[in-house]
Amino acid sequence: MEGLNKYFKKRNFSKSPEPKGNKEFKENRDPIFVIQKHQATHLHYDFRLEKNGVLKSWAIPKQPPVESGIKRLAIRVEDHPLDYADFEGEIPQGLYGAGKVEIWDKGTYVLQEWETTKIIFELKGEKLKGDYCLLKLKPKLAEDKNWLFFKISD
Ligand code: MN
Repeated sequence: MEGLNKYFKKRNFSKSPEPKGNKEFKENRDPIFVIQKHQATHLHYDFRLEKNGVLKSWAIPKQPPVESGIKRLAIRVEDHPLDYADFEGEIPQGLYGAGKVEIWDKGTYVLQEWETTKIIFELKGEKLKGDYCLLKLKPKLAEDKNWLFFKISD
């Protein structure tokens, strides 16, 4: 799931308004996160964290929690290009991910721990603020895409 090959394979850029991933970014800045509300066949929230020049991405079927005590399933999906963080618009019917995409929250984050099965970070968004965790549900199954996303109690 490294790199952007899957992102490009799934999309037809002559028809989709989604970013082609060719925008350049300043080196010296804080890493970003974004959550896009995506009204596809099923409404979900795409959570994306910048890492190694791409946006590591998870699809969360329910609204991400602003407080601790709520755990959400987060399904790992393909990496997205950094400029996807600014994308809002309508993906036309018939295309992969067809439906409306809007930014639900966005900001920078401070990484605390990034392991293969556990990621801990402080989010500095408008809606999500504080320490959050992504935890792989079945740590021994490398190919399993199910994670949990939750706020760590203050
Ligand atoms: Mn999506």
